[in-house]
Amino acid sequence: MTNTTAKAGCAEWTVSESVYHPANERIGGTQFCIGNGLIGLRGSYEELGTREVQGLFAAGVFRKSIERQFCTADTFCRKKYIFNEELMPTPEEIYLIQNLPDPLFTKIWLDGKPFRMWDGKLLEYNRTLDLKTGTLTRTVRWDDGWGNITGLCFRRFCSMAERRLIAQEITITPENWSGEVNIESGIDASLNIEYAESVAGNLPDGLLLKSVVAGSGTQVFQCSENRLTVNGKISSVWKNETQLRRYKKIMPVQAGRGETLTLEKFSTVYSTQDGNPGQSALELAQRSAEAGFETCRAESSRVWQKIWEQADIQIEGDAKAQQRLRFALFHLIIASPQTDSRFSIGAKALTGQGYNGHVFWDTDINLAPFYQWVFPEWGGAHLRYRRRMLDDARAYAESEGRKGARYPWSCTVEGFEHAPVAITCSRTQIHVVPDIAYAALRYADITGDFQWLETQGKDVVTECARYMAGRVVFNAAQDRYEIHGVGGPDEYHPVTDNNAYTNYLTAYVLRRAAEFCPDKGEASRWREIADKMYCPSNEKTGLIPQCDGFYDLKDTWDVTGGEWGGPGAEYHECKGMKQPDVILLLTLLPEKFRQKHFQANWDYYERFILHGSSLSPSIHALVAAKLGLMDRAMHYFNLSADFDFVDYNNDTRDGIHIGNFGGLWQAVAYGFAGLELHGDELRFDPHLPPEWKSLCFRIKFRGNALQLRVTPASVEIAADGTNPSPVKLRIFGKTHTIAPGKQDVFR
Ligand code: BGC
Repeated sequence: MTNTTAKAGCAEWTVSESVYHPANERIGGTQFCIGNGLIGLRGSYEELGTREVQGLFAAGVFRKSIERQFCTADTFCRKKYIFNEELMPTPEEIYLIQNLPDPLFTKIWLDGKPFRMWDGKLLEYNRTLDLKTGTLTRTVRWDDGWGNITGLCFRRFCSMAERRLIAQEITITPENWSGEVNIESGIDASLNIEYAESVAGNLPDGLLLKSVVAGSGTQVFQCSENRLTVNGKISSVWKNETQLRRYKKIMPVQAGRGETLTLEKFSTVYSTQDGNPGQSALELAQRSAEAGFETCRAESSRVWQKIWEQADIQIEGDAKAQQRLRFALFHLIIASPQTDSRFSIGAKALTGQGYNGHVFWDTDINLAPFYQWVFPEWGGAHLRYRRRMLDDARAYAESEGRKGARYPWSCTVEGFEHAPVAITCSRTQIHVVPDIAYAALRYADITGDFQWLETQGKDVVTECARYMAGRVVFNAAQDRYEIHGVGGPDEYHPVTDNNAYTNYLTAYVLRRAAEFCPDKGEASRWREIADKMYCPSNEKTGLIPQCDGFYDLKDTWDVTGGEWGGPGAEYHECKGMKQPDVILLLTLLPEKFRQKHFQANWDYYERFILHGSSLSPSIHALVAAKLGLMDRAMHYFNLSADFDFVDYNNDTRDGIHIGNFGGLWQAVAYGFAGLELHGDELRFDPHLPPEWKSLCFRIKFRGNALQLRVTPASVEIAADGTNPSPVKLRIFGKTHTIAPGKQDVFR
């Protein structure tokens, strides 16, 4: 979105563009995506369905397909570490998020000519996403090339009140002509060829479409209801037509010069994962059509308002950062299935087909903090999702001849390993196992929901610990436990010994899991492993080697080849890193690491970072801010905030980088505000960028709702909540408390 506006005032709540170019459609499809956590709808244009732009996704609706891997093992290192060349040509069963039939589809013929923005003359164009209400508006003035000028306005939203509803409103005003306007409105099922579908019924003003998702047996029901008014009067003589799997209603109407035609369209999406999906789809569409676009919008906006009251972050003094942050928060909101634990959040949420819609460790490490601190009930749902998959994770461990639970590198609504076997590096990143246990422990630490941990969460934590205890090897010569043949978060070094991130986190999880372990012998073994785990750190400087031999790798490299954006074929021989590894580890265990660790590791690792993953810049912003390196912090903050605006990794078209936005929240809360959790004590040590006068946000901590206003020299806290105990605080190094119902400023 090169021409995105970010002026002070209203633009802090909007994202917009005022130039149309067909070449930007695929990126715009992602940038102007809307949703509500159960459905995601890409920013495609109503009048044209384009395969790579259009996208409607419903949480949990995946298809199965038998496919070969697209990648090639074209370098030594790819052959050795990344892809199993022998397996690659063998087709594998894979799960992909299903792109559903397009409910936006509306073709408009103006005095016999089809409305298409690239034809004729586009006199005015603007597309604006209102982040406050999740409403996308496009306004167009169009000359058909023969002098007929028409004004059109398209609005749409995915309702937050009825999370199966998409509402559209299209107004058409012939400015200087009168004649026939022909409207075709329906559902376009022609774009997704792998789809089997059948029409279950036509309705006077709409249609109900039933589709069967290939390989999964899931049936999807989509209803669309139309209301067309010409100068306030309803017209409803629709004709049915099906053409090349476009199911449509057609109506020609006469429009006079200056008259306005309004089409309101209500589309619903249910699947057999919900009870009675066909009937529900029909009823919701009809009920919404009766209520009308504005009423539905008001209901949805009321829910949005409540969500924003909790989620918003206000930055005083930096309009651009404010807008970018709200865009990130908007996506974090529309990504979440909220309290529905049947689903979780994929690497692109519901905004595109990148990473096939799969859930990765990103959700536990990059996204979880936002939900756990801001919407704890939503954060809890993800852990219930992980808990539900425990048996699959146990089976995975058993298939390796090990005890405990090995969570998969990627999964969907099913918990088995979804990463293709030909992608070997996915098998070495076992850090996903302690990551999940860590997320469960942090959830309890933040929310105070130890009851959940002791009843449900402990199974996740102990089974993960059990698996990791089976992955260690004892080095008798050094009297220490080690972990071999794994990759940490940095995927450019996919097979290493003693990855510090994995070792430290494993020790942490084992120590805490021992508290819940019913078998005393096993608990003491876990404690012993934790105590003797090889967790290297230079005693004097605090520098931590990313893995064995890391310091001996080459310092420089030729940035040639290598579609991973890394230093081409030789990346395993040099220090170039895809994403933070040690630097990320430091942020996870604030109780363990001190200033010297942050400083030494920052000084050493920053120069080697290549940001080949979107998960990278935000974590660097966080750590730079903690160190008070405000120029670097802002550099990385902007890189992260702009990631999908500048299409930094050339893949925004495949969907938003949602893990990046989770990291951005962390950069603000953990970095700029300096929030840390030490036991039951909250700490703040703010480092605000010079132009930020203040930072206001809300968190929930152990039953207390805290409203925070952070300035460079003060932290103001208003506490409200059901937990009567005061919150313990440490601010600028001094201890305090704040009781519920109280407000105080700490300097
Ligand atoms: C990153 C992984 C991440 C995945 C999905 C990759 O590029 O390196 O850490 O899990 O993307 O977001």
